[in-house]
Amino acid sequence: MEIFKNHSLKQFNTFGIEATAGCFAELQNSDDLEKLLKQEEFSGQKKLILGGGSNVLFTDDFPGLVIHINTQGISIVGENGDDVMIEAQAGVEWHKLVLHTIELGLGGLENLSLIPGNVGAAPIQNIGAYGTEQKDCFESLTAVNLASGEIKKFSKKECRFGYRDSIFKNEFKDQFLILSVTYRLSRKPVFILGYGAVASELARMQVKEINSRAVSEAVCNIRRSKLPDPVLICNAGSFFKNPVVSAAHYLRLREKYPKIVAFETDDGNYKLAAGWLIEHLGFKGLRRGDAGVCATQALVLVNYGRAAGKDILALAHEIMNAVEKAFGVSLQPEVNIIGNDG
Ligand SMILES: Cc1cc2nc3c(=O)[nH]c(=O)nc-3n(C[C@H](O)[C@H](O)[C@H](O)COP(=O)(O)OP(=O)(O)OC[C@H]3O[C@@H](n4cnc5c(N)ncnc54)[C@H](O)[C@@H]3O)c2cc1C
Repeated sequence: MEIFKNHSLKQFNTFGIEATAGCFAELQNSDDLEKLLKQEEFSGQKKLILGGGSNVLFTDDFPGLVIHINTQGISIVGENGDDVMIEAQAGVEWHKLVLHTIELGLGGLENLSLIPGNVGAAPIQNIGAYGTEQKDCFESLTAVNLASGEIKKFSKKECRFGYRDSIFKNEFKDQFLILSVTYRLSRKPVFILGYGAVASELARMQVKEINSRAVSEAVCNIRRSKLPDPVLICNAGSFFKNPVVSAAHYLRLREKYPKIVAFETDDGNYKLAAGWLIEHLGFKGLRRGDAGVCATQALVLVNYGRAAGKDILALAHEIMNAVEKAFGVSLQPEVNIIGNDG
């Protein structure tokens, strides 16, 4: 496996940030990984695992070893009645997996269509969209411990999935490289259509029979109309998580801001639409040099060309401070900040 020194990461992050990796290796198969981890040169070095680079913001060069995952392969690994277990290697593009399962007549991942990035990153922040999360179909994953080289299988319980969260963002942050993920999909899925514009888009499409392909197409149509395409304008999707507040806090805010957008959570708290808070404070479309807030979706920060990671981060902090002051709410980045500020 070739190892590149002082390698540019600009093509490997959808924010299009110019940052350099001290060393860069492209992982094509897991045998290469064993060899790579055994190299003495890298034993004490910081390591960063990179998939599609659609959920990272580089605020500095990365001095250590960047391992870019490009392992491929999707296979059926089990069946049980109407359930089918599908295993995908970490480097498979997420949307390719979704389309593959639809081709097989399986349901479960359709609401997560068109989310950028690779399979290996999906459990890290427990990707979610349109009322579902990858945890809803998750069966297990295998990962290698970067320090010991030991391979471990993680069950759903062990991953401790939460809203845009898992054990890999907390206790095990940067400690494991996910090799493959297995999902339990169904030949007789129950479709979740009550979130966002999914049902109305299906009606607009004049769909006669609801199936996973139709739902996937509806989700793709909605996403294409709402979200900026990173190929056209550099971004990493939602920059912030939607903050969760107590019912009392929400009711106080609703009194002052009757149009505030929020959803009650299972435990009686309220998830506020961070995009609404940001838009209400007038940030939508704002530009500071080449760092900006997307003109059509206030939750998305964009790089108009030559913004540095620190410029995007400074804008993020400006928004966080304003939201804290106005609403008493602390916004948390959803994007992984890679650098000394992260
Ligand atoms: C336009 C746009 C829309 C988006 N919409 C959504 C959405 O609807 N819902 C949603 O949840 N997210 C969304 N995202 C965020 C992003 O697509 C997801 O977080 C995705 O899972 C990131 O995948 P990636 O391969 O690009 O990860 P990367 O950005 O490469 O990495 C993200 C994190 O995961 C770690 N990582 C990556 N691969 C591995 C691995 N194999 N093993 C261990 N660690 C790993 C990295 O070190 C990093 O910390 C969106 C992003 C964009 C640009």
